Amino acid sequence: MAAEDYYDILGIPRNADEKEIKKAYRNLARKYHPDVCKEPGAEDRFKKINEAYSVLSDQQKKSQYDHMGHETFTNASKGSYTGGGGFGGGGFSADFSGFGDIFDFFGGGFGGQRSTGPQAGNDLLMKIQVTLQEAVFGIEREIELTHTEACPSCNGTGSETKKLVTCPRCGGSGQMRQMSQTPFGQFVRMSTCTECRGRGRMPEKKCPDCRGTGHKQVKRKVSVHIPAGIDNGMRLRMEGYGEAGDYGAPNGDLFIEVYVKPHDRFIRTGDTLETSVSISPAQAVLGTTVEIETIDSRHVELTVPSGIQYNTALKIPGEGVRKRGKPGDLLVRVKIVVPKQTTPEQRELYGKILEIEGNRAGSSKKGFFENIMGKK
Ligand SMILES: [Zn+2]
Ligand SMILES: [Zn+2]
Repeated sequence: MAAEDYYDILGIPRNADEKEIKKAYRNLARKYHPDVCKEPGAEDRFKKINEAYSVLSDQQKKSQYDHMGHETFTNASKGSYTGGGGFGGGGFSADFSGFGDIFDFFGGGFGGQRSTGPQAGNDLLMKIQVTLQEAVFGIEREIELTHTEACPSCNGTGSETKKLVTCPRCGGSGQMRQMSQTPFGQFVRMSTCTECRGRGRMPEKKCPDCRGTGHKQVKRKVSVHIPAGIDNGMRLRMEGYGEAGDYGAPNGDLFIEVYVKPHDRFIRTGDTLETSVSISPAQAVLGTTVEIETIDSRHVELTVPSGIQYNTALKIPGEGVRKRGKPGDLLVRVKIVVPKQTTPEQRELYGKILEIEGNRAGSSKKGFFENIMGKK
C-alpha cells in the first residue's frame, strides 16, 4: 500500500510553483469540503488535501519534503515512547494555517483560531544536536521530554467524577455578552467566558490530582527517528507529542529542531561532503593512489591522475550524505605539499628537474618570480 505522494494528492507536477499549488488546493478543497461533498470518503480526502497543502505551501517544509521524500518525511513525524505508560496518541491534526483566507466564502467561523470549546494543546519545540556522521546516516535518538498528558486520575476530564457540566456562567457557549453604555448608544461586546475560559464545560467536581486542569506534567523518554540527510535547522514534527489538549481536543505537536555539529575533517554542502588529502609534488606529477577515510571511518582508494593541479577536487561517488534515493558524493581536494626538509638525494633529484626545465637553483631571478607569485 504505497502512500500517495503530496504532489499526486494535489494533482500537480513536482515543479509546480506557489501559485499552482494554491490554485490546485483551492479547487480540491472546495470540491471535497465535507460541508459540500457527500461522496463517501470525502472527509478523508479533504484531510489528505489539507495535509498535502500544509506541507507544500510552507517553504521550509516543502524543501524538507522534496529532500527526504514522502516516506521518510511522513515517518519522521512518527515517534514512539520508549518508557512505560499508556499514551493516548494524538490523532490526526492537519495544519489549518492559511485556511481562513481561502475559506472566507464559507462565511468564516471555520478553521480560524477557535476561542471557544475545548482547546487543543500547545506545540513544543526542542532543539537537539547531532554529529555530522549521524546526520549523514540517520539515527535513532532517545530524548527526554517534559510535557503535559491527560491526568490519569480523571482521564483528562479534570473532574473527580469524570463528568463535565455545562458552564453556568455562559450556558456552554464559552462566550459572555458585555453590555456597555456609551454616548452613542448601547454596545454589546462578546468576550471569552472567564469562568470556563471559553471551554463551555467545567469539571463536575475538581479532580484533586490535577486541580481540575485535566493535565499532569510528566517526564518521558521518547525515541526519535532522525532521518538520513537531515540538515542544520530542519524540524521534525512528532504529531501529538506536544502539550495535552483539553478533554476531547487534540494534543499539540512536538517539533524537534536539529543542529548538526561541524566535523573536523568533513565539510557538508547539501548532500556533498568534502575533505582534503595532501600529496607530494612528485605524486602530483606522476599520479598516485591514496587512501581516503570516509565519514564512517572506512578506507577507500582514490586514484589521483598524473599532472593534478593544486586544489583540484576529485569525486568519490556515493560517499556523501545518504539521503533517500541517490546518495551524495564525496569530494576530495588535492593539496600538493612541498617538503620543508629534503634529503641530499632528494635535493639532487630536484636539482636535475630544474636543470631539465632550464632553470637555475637559488638564482636571484627565482626570488623575483617568487615575489610576483606571492602577490597573486
Ligand atoms: Zn463559561
Ligand atoms: Zn485529574
